[in-house]
Amino acid sequence: MYTQLPFDEIKIDESNKRRIAYFYDADVGNYAYGAGHPMKPHRIRMAHSLIMNYGLYKKMEIYRAKPATKQEMCQFHTDEYIDFLSRVSPDNLDMFAKEQVKFNVGDDCPVFDGLFEYCGISGGGSMEGAARLNRGKCDIAINYAGGLHHAKKSEASGFCYLNDIVLGIIELLRYHSRVLYVDIDVHHGDGVEEAFYSTDRVMTCSFHKYGEFFPGTGELRDIGVGKGKYYAVNVPLRDGIDDATYKSIFQPVISKIMEWYQPSVVVLQCGGDSLSGDRLGCFNLSMAGHANCVSFMKSFNIPMMVVGGGGYTMRNVARTWTYESSILNNVKLPAELPYNEYYEYYGPDYKLDVRPSNMYNANSPEYLDKILTNIMAAMENTKHAPSIQMNQVPNDPEDLGDVDEDMPDAIDTKGGSQQARDAIIEPDNEFYDDDEKDTGEKNVAINGLSGANVEKSGEAPNESASNNSTTNGNPSILTDEEISQINELNQ
Ligand SMILES: [Zn+2]
Repeated sequence: MYTQLPFDEIKIDESNKRRIAYFYDADVGNYAYGAGHPMKPHRIRMAHSLIMNYGLYKKMEIYRAKPATKQEMCQFHTDEYIDFLSRVSPDNLDMFAKEQVKFNVGDDCPVFDGLFEYCGISGGGSMEGAARLNRGKCDIAINYAGGLHHAKKSEASGFCYLNDIVLGIIELLRYHSRVLYVDIDVHHGDGVEEAFYSTDRVMTCSFHKYGEFFPGTGELRDIGVGKGKYYAVNVPLRDGIDDATYKSIFQPVISKIMEWYQPSVVVLQCGGDSLSGDRLGCFNLSMAGHANCVSFMKSFNIPMMVVGGGGYTMRNVARTWTYESSILNNVKLPAELPYNEYYEYYGPDYKLDVRPSNMYNANSPEYLDKILTNIMAAMENTKHAPSIQMNQVPNDPEDLGDVDEDMPDAIDTKGGSQQARDAIIEPDNEFYDDDEKDTGEKNVAINGLSGANVEKSGEAPNESASNNSTTNGNPSILTDEEISQINELNQ
């Protein structure tokens, strides 16, 4: 059943125009997990700078989303967890000793200055992206500050605190009967899978390294429970997978899902740690091999939300997300990188490319054949995709609670300084998404789904994280200059 496909150049059809809404908040790059921590929000700013300097802003609408409010976050997360995130800071950490353990905040997921605002930016982008897709105002929404797929209902995990993806999908479910979630991060998309493990309204499909690797879940036999049985797909992979091999497993699995499940909207998590040379990953994908997944998903011509995720070799993440943005915009970019604020990161070649290495590919055709056969057989059960009674969700008459956070002033004082914000020159097409008549749409939970969070049957393999030791330095909001100094040290 498994056939190795040739890996060809990605084709760009310049006549196939899509309306793209790109979400970016200039504050995001100012947050820092702490010196030595592999997760660096700065990479989102680097990607943005490349995207702008390549001129892609002329092709898409650029938005700064309103940060997600506490109330919005609690559509998935528990009140006590969100309340903790909103109150804890490096200065008052000792008051929260018990909570730190309870909510898994510490080494991998340190408390840093502005943590809650950072979560708000990530969540706001995915929620507004989903809302724009719902209203038919764009065909594709992009939020590279999102994609934080490990966060749980009541717990931080794997550098993720707020699960922006689950929040975005809950928003999509208000208008869509079937949502497909696809995850190409090197790590299993456990938080999203768990949130929708018992429903057939969301199908999750994660391609990831499995075996002595964080988070230890995502076995082939994990396929969902109850009504959600057969609506979770896991593709456990070994080290060193290359472009042709990844394509040869990705495309048939996705084609089968599209054919049988027939989702009306797709969420694609584009974690960049599946790239060759990632600081934490162990795959061998080139930029083109990673982007082929984006191009393939786009070819189905259904509304799509594209979010970021992992990715710990910053220059390669920035290159790849830029290239993927160009593919979504049907633009062919020159290989020579344009000059940008972070140009020195891209030496010595200063090219838009991430090349594979000569590492061994531990995914044999026999192994992949076994996986593919299993998945294809299970998928036959997803035909007659759920014909659910869509609940009419009314606009809420008034915002309940969190009044302060919805005030423009409160929004403007988040994260970086007002001065820094004023200094940002906004292009003509950059604006807040301010469709006031629609603002009520986001704040209502879906009956029975917002709390979806099911303990999985079967024991999870007892593999501890291989990438969970990070030094907890002295995190703070840094200037660009300070950040680039730290990054130089870390590279
Ligand atoms: Zn990852």
